[in-house]
Amino acid sequence: MKIENHKLSDVPYEESPNHSGEIKPDTIIMHYTAGASAESSIRTLCDPETKASAHVVIGRDGSITQLVPFNIKAWHAGRSQYGNRRGMNNYSIGIEMDNAGMLEKSGENFVSWFGRKYAASEVKKAQHRNEAFERYWHLFTEEQIDAAFELCKALIAEYNIEHILGHEEISPGRKTDPGPAFPLDKLRERLLEQDRGSDEAEEQAATGTVAVDRLNFRDAPGTEGEKISKPLSRGTKVKIIGKEGGWFRVKVEQEGWVMGRYIDKNLK
Ligand SMILES: [Zn+2]
Repeated sequence: MKIENHKLSDVPYEESPNHSGEIKPDTIIMHYTAGASAESSIRTLCDPETKASAHVVIGRDGSITQLVPFNIKAWHAGRSQYGNRRGMNNYSIGIEMDNAGMLEKSGENFVSWFGRKYAASEVKKAQHRNEAFERYWHLFTEEQIDAAFELCKALIAEYNIEHILGHEEISPGRKTDPGPAFPLDKLRERLLEQDRGSDEAEEQAATGTVAVDRLNFRDAPGTEGEKISKPLSRGTKVKIIGKEGGWFRVKVEQEGWVMGRYIDKNLK
């Protein structure tokens, strides 16, 4: 897959009027269309009335259509936040995949919100990362997943991509796409493994020293993260194995998250 002048060569380009301004993308946001077909989703995303778009749409046969150049802001994320940043359209490339989304069981079949029936072979029962129960999700096709992986690989080669995220992760509560039928964790583990606390990354990890008397040690990067041990005391040596929005993932005897500004980083 080749990118020239912020467009994929050899894929159809149908410009959406729903775009604005220039961006320097460092994030990829994965979506499902919750639609009936790639064609109908492309029509919707090119309709000025909808005020919605994405950079590309991937059909169920793996075919890609581009709607907005990658250096121009498309309107796919809406109200969204990741780390300290809000309005993720300003930083990201949006990839829509043709998929009906959540399904309801109805007798032998499964029904989408727009009333189409799907056979059990097209459905996955799974728990969404933002939910505490299982429900039914339309499967993505292998061709579609392969195309998504190849496209992300090409984007990483062309742009300074640091994150691959689901819409559900930047707009939790409001959005559920791409949902548990899409292998999002595998995608970023495979393509962005240096960010994922791999052994290699840990080898090269920076070290630091706790610079306050008591530093809360949490299971997630944010003050809503649960405290997982008593606070770390001043002078405790830590390994810094990850970063996110001002928080450091550190390793002492166990791993957890602390406020980055209370760690003095040791020079290597
Ligand atoms: Zn979405």
